[in-house]
Amino acid sequence: MQGGSIRLFRVAGIQVSLHFSWFLVAVYQLTSRPHGYQMRVFAIYEYLALFLIVLLHEFGHAFACRQVGGIANRILLWPFGGIAFVNPPPRPGAELWSIAAGPLVNVALIPVLLLLRIVVVRSGLAFNAPDLYRLVSMMGYINIAILVFNLFPIYPLDGGQILRSLLWYPFGRIRSLQIASVIGLIGGGLLTLYAFTTGSTWLVILTFFLLTQAVTGWRRAKELQLEEAETLRPIPSAPTERPPVL
Ligand SMILES: [Zn+2]
Repeated sequence: MQGGSIRLFRVAGIQVSLHFSWFLVAVYQLTSRPHGYQMRVFAIYEYLALFLIVLLHEFGHAFACRQVGGIANRILLWPFGGIAFVNPPPRPGAELWSIAAGPLVNVALIPVLLLLRIVVVRSGLAFNAPDLYRLVSMMGYINIAILVFNLFPIYPLDGGQILRSLLWYPFGRIRSLQIASVIGLIGGGLLTLYAFTTGSTWLVILTFFLLTQAVTGWRRAKELQLEEAETLRPIPSAPTERPPVL
């Protein structure tokens, strides 16, 4: 146990941990929602498959970050998905690749999961093992849902961070973060309003989390500005952490 999370395993020096709240939410999700499977165990498989896809996405971020000379030693899985703690070198290209690699994993998974579905259909398992067929189909949808959601240009979602990296080229490190954070705040606000209309507590909590991270991005931009303006004087406040990559 470390900071409320359990160490699962380590791959190429990257420690994968699971936050304890994951179990609580997993139990809630698996017991309160209709799952459409004949055998309940397949609902568990589906939930685990969701986090396997999320984990592959996070490894995409971590390995890409290392490829460009950055630091990435930790991945945390929690009820909202995954967090890759990446610290790429402060260059727009390095940042862009570290962020884009996550969604690109999901893009690469589309043909793989499609092929798997075709194999299941061709082998007659779709008829003989409908639960297995449903699981494979659901994995395809889940993968695309993760991809689409992450590409919303709402900082700190991947889409927002990609937008920030692209804005870095013409506007520089600080201005790009300010612009992306403001778009993140507006987008996050709209998403929160939408979440309230759906009545999904889950979505409301998630969008609130996004909003707080957009604020962190804004504060980080302010600090970078101060650092640049007052290079001779130390900054009195504690440095804000960079928002994690989802
Ligand atoms: Zn991501």
